[in-house]
Order: sequence, then structure tokens, then C-alpha cells
Amino acid sequence: MRKIIIAITILFSIISNAQDKPKLVVGIVVDQMKMEYLYRFSSDFLDNGFKRLMNDGFVFQNTHYNYMPTYTAPGHASIFTGTTPSTHGIVGNDWFNKASGKDMYCTDDESVSMIGDGIESEGKMSPKNLQSTTITDELKLSTNFKGKVIGMSLKDRGAILPAGHFADWAFWYSKTGAFISSTFYGEKLPNWVIDFNNEKNYEKYINKGWELLKPKETYNESLTDNNPYEGKLYKKTPFFPYNLKDMYDNNDAGVLRSTPFGNNILADFAMKAIEKEQLGKDEITDFLTVSFSSTDYIGHILGPRSIELQDTYLRLDETIAEFLTYLDKNVGKGNYLVFLTADHAGAENVTYLKENKYDVTNVNYKTIKNDLIAFSKTTYGEDLVLDYSNYNVFFNKELIKIKGLELSKVKQEFTTYLYQQKFVKRVYSEEEILNASGSDFYLNFVVNGYDPVQNGELVIVLKPGYVEYSATGTTHGSPYTYDTHVPLLFYGWHIKKGESFDRKEITQVAPTLSQLLKITFPNGTKAELLQEILKKD
Ligand code: ZN
Ligand code: ZN
Ligand code: ZN
Repeated sequence: MRKIIIAITILFSIISNAQDKPKLVVGIVVDQMKMEYLYRFSSDFLDNGFKRLMNDGFVFQNTHYNYMPTYTAPGHASIFTGTTPSTHGIVGNDWFNKASGKDMYCTDDESVSMIGDGIESEGKMSPKNLQSTTITDELKLSTNFKGKVIGMSLKDRGAILPAGHFADWAFWYSKTGAFISSTFYGEKLPNWVIDFNNEKNYEKYINKGWELLKPKETYNESLTDNNPYEGKLYKKTPFFPYNLKDMYDNNDAGVLRSTPFGNNILADFAMKAIEKEQLGKDEITDFLTVSFSSTDYIGHILGPRSIELQDTYLRLDETIAEFLTYLDKNVGKGNYLVFLTADHAGAENVTYLKENKYDVTNVNYKTIKNDLIAFSKTTYGEDLVLDYSNYNVFFNKELIKIKGLELSKVKQEFTTYLYQQKFVKRVYSEEEILNASGSDFYLNFVVNGYDPVQNGELVIVLKPGYVEYSATGTTHGSPYTYDTHVPLLFYGWHIKKGESFDRKEITQVAPTLSQLLKITFPNGTKAELLQEILKKD
């Protein structure tokens, strides 16, 4: 009897322990995914992919980015730090470094080296420019570094920033077709990564080519193929089927990124990581971040209404279904917590809007820069513009001083000039941004994205509908809903099904995860929690 009681007590403590924390948290980011896609393509989705997360999990219908620029690196950093570029310091994918006078990349780190079968320049990367901690960092601290944290993506920034400063590993895809990392994480790739790379899995996908997954008539939610709003994929006419072998032969294995199979190879790699790194096997919570990038590459080139993009989502839906089934089997239903969101959404193709009578256009950032320089030369006889990038104007303050000009007056004159441009909605000066009181809708987005050490002296907000991009395909970066409205789905461990239509901000994800795991919040977050998934009711 005594033995039975002890056995029951032990069993009970195992069960209650098992429910105390999830064994594995999986953070899925779908690059450039608009909330709308969950609905636009839903009649062609499986029951056990995106729909499983939506029907059995919690759907935040109205989640937005709360800063500009809405780009990939700030997006990934903001999801996982629970704060915005003004605090975490990732103010763009790349930006003008005022100290060096040169452009820098978000995850540049000259002090580390590439490891694996990649190209050296692809591997000089680390999270050192990320100024605040991530939810994954806090998990490492709270478990005395025993919980494993691994980040992965086709993009270096999509792997490195979510995994944080204390990650065991971040892996990203090289144009050689291999997953690589840097000496920031270790001296040598784990053997299972070397084995995975040796299998040359990319060849399997390239040799298969890219045909539509379903009969052509299935794609009636998109425009017809080979429409004028699509750009060219590696010089190919934007038309199915794509000969990937040919694209590969003329380029490198990097072409896989701009096909749906970039997502497939990443999912293959993620499942291998779970198996070989034993993620979710013990009682200490592990955290895997997986950022699917092919949706962004294809969205940029072919646009949001191309059948290529729809096909990519239908295939990603299958991949998500397969991945969830894998988690059920290997980590166990109820033992893992999944969340899915995006690093930003994306605009409509501007030419398509214009042809349908909405008077908007695309502007090239180089044209804006050249026009600013030309204005400077005619007005002051000198080029006072150091750089224009990410909607920021950087002035040559030294030269302004030498010329005996007043910076505030120069800014004023540039502002007046900019307001004469058809594409400009607002121009804000550094002083206005730093002294903002919070009542100006556009200004709040700029404030949250602005770091005075790293940003320029003027920030431009384009008019809604205008994009800094080519006439084909699409982009993102603005504070408007088409760029800010992203999916936010929670599923699995302790998540009840439901939905909320209240407006949420992306920075709420990380502190809510901290609350679910009962650990310290990332250090830069203002911690407005998503009450809906925390309340026990
Ligand atoms: Zn992105
Ligand atoms: Zn096409
Ligand atoms: Zn993008």
C-alpha cells in the first residue's frame, strides 16, 4: 500500500511538473505574412496546418507593429524583445552608421568568423548590435543556461535576432546550400548539421522544379499568371512551371530562397534539430525559433496577388501540418507551445492600385537621395546630405558648421522642400521625435522606431499607398495597416481556443511568453500582457 501511495505521489508530481512548464516553445515567424492570407487562402488550406492553429488555438485578429520602419530585422528583434527599435537598437536591416560614416548590417560582427561550408562574409554575424534581451535570453538565464535555445532561418537576421545573446546556436542558409553559423556560437558545427549539409538536400528540391501544387483553377484568389505586376525570378518569365535546375546552374543554391522549397528545407532542418538536440525531451523548457523567409523573397519579386505567392502559402500550410504532427509525435501533444506571427506584412503592388484608379506610385529611394543632394547643391552650393536610407536623412553636421550654416535652419529648409514632393505625408525632425507627446498617430510610429544615436536628423513618412520600391512586386516598411497587420496565433500548452478582436501590439508577445513561463521579462519591454491567453477563467 505504502509503495502504491509513493508511486502515485511520484506519478502525480511528474504529471504536475510536466504541466508546470512547456517542454518546448516553438516561435514561428513567417516573413511578410499578412493577416489576410489566413483567410484569403483558407478554402485551399488543409485542416491540420494553419487551420489547426486557428481552430484549436487562440487567434489575435488585430495585431500590429507599432513603429516604422517595418522591416525584417527590427521585426524579428521586436517580437522577441517585446520592445521597439528605439530601445533594442535594431533600427533597420542595414543603416548608415554615423560613427564610421559607412553602412552597417544589423548582425554584422567583424570579430567572429563563419563556420561550416559557407562563404566567409556570410558568417561574420552575431547578435551584438541587439541592445536588449530577448524572451529566449531570459529563458536561458532562468534555467541556469540548461534550457536549449536554437534559432534558424534562411536569413541570418531571422535566425540570430530571435535566438538572442545566450543562444546555443543560430543557423542560417548559405548560397552554397549549406546551413552555417558563426564562431559566436561555437568553434565547429554540430555533427548532425554537418551530416544534414552533406546530404545536399537542396538538390532534391532543385531537381524537382516548381510546378503548381494544385490545379490552376484553385488559384482563383490570385491574379492570372504572368501578369504585369510580377517581377522576374532570376530572369525567368513569371510563369509556371519554373525550371529550378536552370536557375541553379546559372546562379547558386541561393535560388532556393525564392522558391517555396526554401521553407521546406528549413522545416526539414528544424525537425532534425529537434531530434538531434533532444529539444523538448526533458522537463527543462527549450526554445526553438524558426523563421520562414521564402514568403518574403517571393512576395517582393512577384507581389501579393501572384499565384506564385499563393502556391507558396499552400505549400507552407502543408509544411506547418507536417511540423505539428512531428511535434505531437516527438514532444507530445500538450507539451509544446507554438506561436506564429510575422515580422511585418506587405503592401499591395503599387502599379496594380494605380491601374485601378488609386493615384499612388512607387518612388526609388536612390531618386529621393539624389534629389535631396541636388536640392542641397542648388541651395547651399554644397552637398550637405551624408545619407538617405530607411526614410532617414543624415546631414553632414561638420560641413554645415564649416559653412557657417545653422543646422536647425537647414533642417527647416529641407523639410519645406520635402513637403513639396507628392509622396511625402510627414517630415519629422530629431527634436520633434525626441520631444513627442504621443497625440500624433504617425509620429508615435516614428518615435518607437527612432534611436537618436543611430537615426538621422529628419524622418520622412510616405503617403499611404506609396512605396519605396520597384513598379513590380511589393515591399514593406511603412506605418500603415497593410505593413503592420500580422497574424498572431498561440497553440498548445495551456492555450485555450478562442479569439480576440482587440487591437494588440507585436511587443506584447515576448512579455506574455515570459508570464506563461513565469520568468523575468525581457529587459526593454513595457510589458502589456495578452490577458486573453493568461486568464484561467
Ligand atoms: Zn521580413
Ligand atoms: Zn507568375
Ligand atoms: Zn521583405
